[in-house]
Amino acid sequence: MSEELICITCPMGCHLFIDRPSDGSLAVTGNRCPRGLTYAAEELLAPKRMVSATAAVAGPGSRGGPGSIARLPVRSSAAFPRHEVPELLAAIYSLRVKLPVARGDVLIRDFKGSGVDVIATRTLGQGLRRDQ
Ligand code: SF4
Repeated sequence: MSEELICITCPMGCHLFIDRPSDGSLAVTGNRCPRGLTYAAEELLAPKRMVSATAAVAGPGSRGGPGSIARLPVRSSAAFPRHEVPELLAAIYSLRVKLPVARGDVLIRDFKGSGVDVIATRTLGQGLRRDQ
């Protein structure tokens, strides 16, 4: 029986059909280019996801009132193993980010040796000094 996937690597959205012979290999059809093979193999054998979330902000700038920011949007620097996403989210939710922070700042480096960082996707608190 074939498994089916839509390749999301590019806007073509090829409909992939995957058979798994008993030798453990993958037989992929429906892909218009080799990247579809890579996508199917990764999705079926070691799925990964980009992770987006928000992290709590600590200290000045997080105290409420006009213009205050309670949470900072963040994302993973690369796709992360799907089965470990809850652990990464727990680490993100335990952060208390001190302002100021610039877009692209690394908040968690090389999470659990994965090579994936968590980075800020927004610049916040530029009027604040780092030692506040
Ligand atoms: S198989 Fe190739 S052409 Fe088709 S969606 Fe994937 S990347 Fe795009």
